[in-house]
Formats: sequence, structure tokens, C-alpha cells
Amino acid sequence: MRDTVHDVVIVGAGPVGLALGRMLGLRGHEVLLLERWPEAYPLPRAVHFDDEIGRIFQNMGLAEEIRAVSQPVPDHYEWRNAAGQALVRIDWSGTGPSGWPTANFFCQPELENVLSDAVEGMDNVTLLRGAEVVDVVDTGDVVEVSFTGALAKRQRVHGRFVVGCDGANSFVRERLGTTMPDHGFFYDWLIVDTIPLDEREWSPMNWQLCDPARPTTVVSGGPGRRRWEFMRRPEETREELDTEEKAWELLKAWDRTPDNTRLERHAVYTFAARWAERWNRGRLVIAGDAAHQMPPFAGQGMCSGLRDVANLSWKLDRVLRGRSGIGLLDTYTAERRVHVQHAIAMSIALGKVICVLDEDQAAARDARMIDGGADPARVLPVSEQPILGPGVTAEDIGVPALRGTLAPQYPVRRAARRGPLDELTGYGPLLLATGDRAAAELDPAAHQACEQARVPMLTVGTGTPDLVDESGEWSHWFGTHGIAAVLVRPDHYITGAVTEHGTIPALLARYRAAVDGGSPPANPTVDHRSPATSA
Ligand SMILES: Cc1cc2nc3c(=O)[nH]c(=O)nc-3n(C[C@H](O)[C@H](O)[C@H](O)COP(=O)(O)OP(=O)(O)OC[C@H]3O[C@@H](n4cnc5c(N)ncnc54)[C@H](O)[C@@H]3O)c2cc1C
Repeated sequence: MRDTVHDVVIVGAGPVGLALGRMLGLRGHEVLLLERWPEAYPLPRAVHFDDEIGRIFQNMGLAEEIRAVSQPVPDHYEWRNAAGQALVRIDWSGTGPSGWPTANFFCQPELENVLSDAVEGMDNVTLLRGAEVVDVVDTGDVVEVSFTGALAKRQRVHGRFVVGCDGANSFVRERLGTTMPDHGFFYDWLIVDTIPLDEREWSPMNWQLCDPARPTTVVSGGPGRRRWEFMRRPEETREELDTEEKAWELLKAWDRTPDNTRLERHAVYTFAARWAERWNRGRLVIAGDAAHQMPPFAGQGMCSGLRDVANLSWKLDRVLRGRSGIGLLDTYTAERRVHVQHAIAMSIALGKVICVLDEDQAAARDARMIDGGADPARVLPVSEQPILGPGVTAEDIGVPALRGTLAPQYPVRRAARRGPLDELTGYGPLLLATGDRAAAELDPAAHQACEQARVPMLTVGTGTPDLVDESGEWSHWFGTHGIAAVLVRPDHYITGAVTEHGTIPALLARYRAAVDGGSPPANPTVDHRSPATSA
């Protein structure tokens, strides 16, 4: 391989590394992806993504491809006790605020194929499989990356930045020199993936049997697939549980036999809850399972990794172009580490309700949940809205409840075109202001502030604004929060939201201070990106 200095070398081509390669490639950067194994990992793991993640795929230009390999949930996610009584019913039907189905099921290798095909179709992204990274040295100006593989002897390449998307046992994390304490939640579960051979309607599509004799999860494994997850009981060893005979024995109770089912795989996983203290240092960064792991009860492991790279990619883009100092990457750690702790806490809280093997405790739990009418708001642990840690957020002005939260993607009409917001406004930062007239008629000071920050300003409302709110969802959202304008970043998280148009310049000043601050630009690369994707 030619020893050139790549803009970014990504270690690991799981879903997170592939997604980052695609995002940086779309922004015009030259990316090398190094993956240890010659072939993509063929067996299922993640099965669920939410509406925010659908929007991220849409932003990667892969909406149709991802829809083709996933299925939206049409009904409730139901938890039942051993007697078949409903303990909680969570509505997973319909469209979420990000404009995608609330819950989507898929098979991870199929989704990774979509991402892999997408990066392989890009001239500026190279995916090298069969290349195991064995050393990474940050020299200050550049990172030296050494790798070996079946096809080549040890080779060295260079990257302005190296991002370790190399999974739970991350080598890059080790080189970055951070700690990854355990937060104490260990249970073993047997995961059994199947392909039903019979025609059968699965209703509800996804459910949880909270039976202390054997807590069991029964979910879609994506189109044409079903997954069962069985908790290990204390009197069983991992080895006893992890056999094909045991898988069939447990499936029999669910009327699944070799006559009507193909067993795709079985594996025992020990679920862990961990996050790294630091996610960036110098020119090294980590993302995905390399930075955090969680039990899968909320289906958020991969989702969190994709949020990481949606956050990281626009910041790396700015740094590589010399528009921000390398210090901007510190906000990646600060923002994402706090946000992911929410997903981990939620996963643990759900797991504690599910992983009950004691009959008395289970009976008390069941009574409480049935008493609560199976209403998630009453019977599940309170879940605060996930929020970014302080970073590119206007901490001292605006409406605190919205700062660092995700902005919605309701539909709009722009001139003759109708569609979800992002399709009509592009993928950079955006100042959305309420108004029935075009933004051009707003306060000149607001315009000047937007121009200086290179943030387009658009009005959304019902008269003749830039974006017509035909569904009324935008007006409802602005009205509910009592806000007049909101500054949305390229990853759709909110820097700040203000209650009057007069505060727009102050909001933009906070944004500029956050993105322009930090140390001087880090060896900017040539500006070869189209303005449409500007961050
Ligand atoms: C049973 C189970 C169920 C789950 N369910 C869900 C779910 O429903 N929803 C959800 O969002 N998440 C779920 N997850 C989590 C999800 O599978 C992971 O979070 C996701 O795979 C992490 O992606 P990643 O790209 O960060 O890491 P990985 O998928 O682990 O990929 C890392 C890649 O890096 C490569 N690599 C490692 N070291 C090197 C090296 N030195 N050089 C080169 N390459 C290297 C590896 O070969 C691998 O390909 C589940 C996980 C499990 C186990």
C-alpha cells in the first residue's frame, strides 16, 4: 500500500467504523478503513434501531437500502409474567420525532453489508479487509499505524487522525491510555437466532417473558428471522447452556423444532456495563463498543456507537479543514460520555426488572406492575430525556430543557418540494426560527450573526415562511417549548433554543465560541468538500 498521509485511518469495520467511513467520505475526506478479518462477521448480534438512527442512515444517503433490510414494529413491546398477564405495554408503533419508525428490527450482517457496499462505492474511502492493526503511534503531527495481514507483511501507513472503532477489546483504546471501569451488571444469556420455515404471524412482534423460572426475550431478528434470548440460571454452567441440544430443548417450549425452524446460531453472552473515561487524546479517538458497552435490554449498543460517529464526524471535518482547533474534539468526549451513560443506566434499569430469578421478588414486581395498569410511565424506572454533556452547547442562555437534546425532523414544504426537514435543508448546522415570513425579513443583526457563523437561517411557520409547516408539528413543538428560534448542529442536537428572536445573535456567539475555540487548527487539509455538506 502506498504510504500517503490519510485524512483519517479507521481501525475496525463493524457498523460504527463503516458508518464513520461513509460520513467522512461524504464530507470529502480521504479515509482508510482497516479491518482485521478478511470477511465480514456473518452472524447476527444487534437487532433493533430507533428513529434517530434511521435519520442517521438517511443522512448517509442510505434510507432506501436500510428500509429494504429492516422491518418497522407495528404494535406494542409487551412484557408478561409467567401467568401470561401483561406487566407493561410499550407502544413501538408509528413514527418517532426523527421521522422514522419508532422501532426497527434488522439482522446486523445485512445492515453491515449495506454500509460496506456504500463505502466500497466511494472513491475517497478505501476498505482493506484482512489487515490487523498491531501498533499505533501518535507523533504529534501525524499518527503512524502498523498492520499485518494474511495478504501482506507488516506495513505502515499514516493518518492525520486515527479512530478506533475496534470493538470491546479495543487496541486503540489501550494506546489512547484510558481506563474503562465496570459498572457492575453481569448476567449470562443464551442468544438463539432462527429462521422460521413455516408461515406464522408473530403477535406481538416483540415481547418479554418475565418468568423467574427462565426470563426469556422473544423478538424479531429482522425480516424473515426470529430471536430467542434465555437467561442462565444459577445452577447451570455457561458450557451447559451453550449447546445446540440446549437451544433446541428451550425452543421446544415455543413450538420451534427442526421441522419448522432453522437454527442460525447460538451463543452465550455476558452482558457488561462499561464506558471509557477518555474518548480522545491528541490524534487518537475511539467510538462505538471501543468506548462503551451495555446490556442489550434497551437495544442501544450499536445505536449509541452510531450517535458517537454522527457527533464525531462533523467535528473531525471542521478540524481537518482548519475551521476549528483540535480542542473541538474534547467536546466529543464531554458530550457523548454523558449521553451514553443515560443509555447504559436505562439498559441496566430494564435489566433489573427483567433478570429476576427469585419467585417472591418476581411476584412483588408483577403485583406492582399490574397495579400500575401496565403503563410504562408508571411501572418502569423513570427515564429522563437523554442529554449531551456540556460542549458545543450554549450553557448560559436559552431554554435549559432543550439544550443538548435531539431536534425533531418533522416534514416541511420548501417552495414546491415536500419532505422530511433534512432532505430540504441539507446536513450542516441550521438556525430555525418561528415566523410566517421569510427569514430575510427578520432582524439584520440575526442575519449578520448567522453569516459570521456560516449557519443558514430559515423560518418555519404557516404563512409564507421559508419552510411551510403543513402538518402543524413544528408550530406545536415551538409552542410547547415556548421558543422562537433553535440552533441545530449537523448531528441534529440542539446547541440552544431561545424565547425571542432578539437573542439569536447571542446564541450564535456561543456556538462560534464553542466551535472556533480550542487550540490552533491542526494541519488543515485542502478544502475539497461541496458547500452542501459544510459543518
Ligand atoms: C446479543 C447482542 C444483542 C445486541 N442487540 C443490540 C440491539 O438490538 N441494538 C443495538 O443497537 N445494539 C445491540 N447490540 C450491540 C451491537 O452489536 C454492538 O454495539 C455493535 O456491534 C458495536 O459495533 P462496533 O462497530 O463498535 O464494534 P464491532 O461490531 O465489535 O466491530 C469492531 C470491528 O473491529 C475489528 N477489529 C478489532 N480489532 C482490530 C484490529 N486490531 N485491527 C483491525 N480491526 C480490528 C473487529 O474485527 C470488528 O470487525 C447487541 C449485542 C449483542 C452481543
